[in-house]
Amino acid sequence: MTENTDISAERLGVDDSFSFSCDSGLACFNKCCRDINLFLTPYDILRMKRRLRISSAEFLKTYTFPLFPEEIGHPVILLKMIPDETKNCPFVSGEGCMIYDDRPWSCRSFPLEPVSDSVPPVFGIVKREFCLGFGKGRTSRTVRKWRDTQNVALYEEMNEGWKKITHHEDFGSKNFLEGAYRDIFFLGSYNLDEFRNLLIHGELQRYFDIGNSVLKRIKSSETELLRFAFKWMRCVLFGEDTLKRR
Ligand code: SF4
Ligand code: SF4
Repeated sequence: MTENTDISAERLGVDDSFSFSCDSGLACFNKCCRDINLFLTPYDILRMKRRLRISSAEFLKTYTFPLFPEEIGHPVILLKMIPDETKNCPFVSGEGCMIYDDRPWSCRSFPLEPVSDSVPPVFGIVKREFCLGFGKGRTSRTVRKWRDTQNVALYEEMNEGWKKITHHEDFGSKNFLEGAYRDIFFLGSYNLDEFRNLLIHGELQRYFDIGNSVLKRIKSSETELLRFAFKWMRCVLFGEDTLKRR
């Protein structure tokens, strides 16, 4: 997630404890919200654009930039820091995060970083030299308790849905960095309002038998819409039987 970070060699399971607490009285308050490489997941984008009451296209254009890294193999979206000497996150204020309830997954999970895809999960601790939240005198909690207080569960459930695409066994056989595969991946992962337009007012219903109850769910919940977009991508990118074709 960040520059100048280091993950501890120590490994923690969900029932292990660690000492950390963060509050506005610390001299480091807000220092962690600047000059960072903050990757956004599809569900992060959904939450943030909804919080800001703008479309996904407007959010992507105003607050993010894409990268196409060969080592990852698909487009990624990063939050733009303010382009001045502060390099602040656009959502940090003197009082802290202005979108706290809808902050991205990586802001929620700090200082814990999953170090593998194992079940149950194993974590390392991200150390940032200026962060005064660690150690002596700080509150000790289990990893499970900390994660509960940060409400990561729904974010991680949605991330798991996305991983069925990015970790698909056929992922490496296609080029997601350009052309039609890239466009499909970008639309279904990041540009949810445009995907909704195509689904409800456009072409997609000519090719898929979606059904009224599913359509109703999708129209009333953006989270359901994103779940549907993941199914659509698995169907059109990998030929999975996740949707009924007409
Ligand atoms: S640097 Fe650490 S302790 Fe300070 S505000 Fe950020 S997370 Fe909290
Ligand atoms: S989104 Fe909020 S918590 Fe995350 S870096 Fe920006 S201000 Fe900090």
